[in-house]
Amino acid sequence: MGVVVGALMALGLPGVAGGAASWPLVRDGNQGTNVRTVQHLVTHHGHTTAVDGIFGPNTEREVRNFQQAEGLAVDGIVGPNTWAELVVPVAEGSTATHAVEAAQEQLNKHGAELSVTGSFDAATATATREFQDEHGIDPSGTVDNATWRELIAGVGAVGGYSLPLDRGAQPRSAYAASHHDYPAIDLPVRSGHSVYAVNGGRVVKISGGSCGYGVQITARDGGVYTYCHFRSPALASGEVEAGKLLGYSGNTGNTTGPHLHLQLKYNGSWLCPQRLLLAIYDGDPVPSLGSLPTSGCTH
Ligand SMILES: [Zn+2]
Repeated sequence: MGVVVGALMALGLPGVAGGAASWPLVRDGNQGTNVRTVQHLVTHHGHTTAVDGIFGPNTEREVRNFQQAEGLAVDGIVGPNTWAELVVPVAEGSTATHAVEAAQEQLNKHGAELSVTGSFDAATATATREFQDEHGIDPSGTVDNATWRELIAGVGAVGGYSLPLDRGAQPRSAYAASHHDYPAIDLPVRSGHSVYAVNGGRVVKISGGSCGYGVQITARDGGVYTYCHFRSPALASGEVEAGKLLGYSGNTGNTTGPHLHLQLKYNGSWLCPQRLLLAIYDGDPVPSLGSLPTSGCTH
């Protein structure tokens, strides 16, 4: 499970995304933390909806009501213009309970371990500064527009899928790279990067062997995703959502340098995950697993 040395040398400063994230589309049929954030924020704006993480007809109706009230195009889809009106700055002492809960859940999505209280306390401010510092944003401790955008887009969760790394951790081209022996992908990140679940499902921890520390997730899309070479035992267990922090990248197991090895098995065959990952990166609809090739992604 080696890694191309040239790719390692091309790595820049770690973890600096430079605020390049873009707002994801969140719409009917989506699930997860970003949907909860939409539900919290439309509720904050007076269009009360249940916060259950499932974007169904009730959420869509309240998004439409919000769009109508704000003079936005009324399509029931949360895109860049709607996000820009939905998010509100929150900081220590903020009493905007729903918006603070959304911020706390987003920070947890990125690995913070906050109690979701709706009260923006000192721990929330610290987690905000740490997130901002890691993502090249002025560490003010205020969840402002740029911070919201990075939080919401950071792991690229779209339609129940997430990039396995923060968006700034690897260039797009890394997600197109071929693997050295069988269908899989090696993402040459330094040790210590957050690794996220691409699709939600049930986690089994891996410890030892060629994978080193890692996890295998039997996912809701029917795939079995294996993540290898974490620097230390995996953090996640049980059922997880897409975008859940699984652990930190590293160099354990059979490697020639720090990287995240990701492989995907479906119906008994190894699949090439590149097209799936590129679709997530681009914010495009993800291809069905059955349409992914079982060869042609090795060198
Ligand atoms: Zn590999």
